[in-house]
Amino acid sequence: MEKLLEGFRKFRSTYYRAHRHTYRTLAQQGQAPRAMVIACVDSRIDPQMMLDAELGEIIVVRNVANLVPPFTPDGGFHGTSAALEFAVRLLNVAHVIVLGHAGCGGIAALLADPRETDDDFISTWMATIRAARTRALALVEAGRGDLQRLCEQEGIRSSVTNLSSFPWVRERVAAGALTLHGWYFEIETGDLFSLGADGEFQPI
Ligand SMILES: [Zn+2]
Repeated sequence: MEKLLEGFRKFRSTYYRAHRHTYRTLAQQGQAPRAMVIACVDSRIDPQMMLDAELGEIIVVRNVANLVPPFTPDGGFHGTSAALEFAVRLLNVAHVIVLGHAGCGGIAALLADPRETDDDFISTWMATIRAARTRALALVEAGRGDLQRLCEQEGIRSSVTNLSSFPWVRERVAAGALTLHGWYFEIETGDLFSLGADGEFQPI
C-alpha cells in the first residue's frame, strides 16, 4: 500500500502539476470524451495507457471479460448498461469500443464447466455470453483453432451485437452518429486486432 501512496504523491507532484490547467478546465466545464471503451478488469489491460489517451478523451467502463449485456429493462442492477447510457445519451460519444484480450480469466471461467448458484457472481455474469461458449466449442470442432482465443473473440462479437440491442445505440448508429468497434489485444505480442464487417478479426 505504501508504494501506491507514494505513487499518488508522485502523480500529484509531476503529472497533475503539469496538467493542472487541463484538470481545472475539465472540472469547471465538464467532460466531453469522444469515445467509450468497455474493457476487462484485468490488471494487464489499461485503455488509457494503450491508446495514449489524453485526460478526458475516453470514458472507460471495466467489468469481468469486457461484456455488454443485452438491453434488459427489468429494474435490475445493470452497472455496465448504466455506464453505456451515460456515455451514449448524456455525453454523446461517437465511438464505443469493446476491448477484449488474450488470456482472459472471465472467459476461462466460462469455459470451465459453469457452476450455477446464486452466490457465484462470476458464472452468473459470464452466462451473459453463454451462446459464445457454444459457438466457440463448435469452431474448435471445425478445427478453427484454440478454444480460449475463439471464445474470447466470440465474446467480443456477442458484446458488439448486444450493444445494438439498446434502442438509443441502434438509433445513433443508424443516424451515423455512433460507430461500434470490437478489438482484441494480444498481451504477449502487443498486437491489436479489429472486428471487421465480415465478422473476422484483422490486425490493426
Ligand atoms: Zn479479461
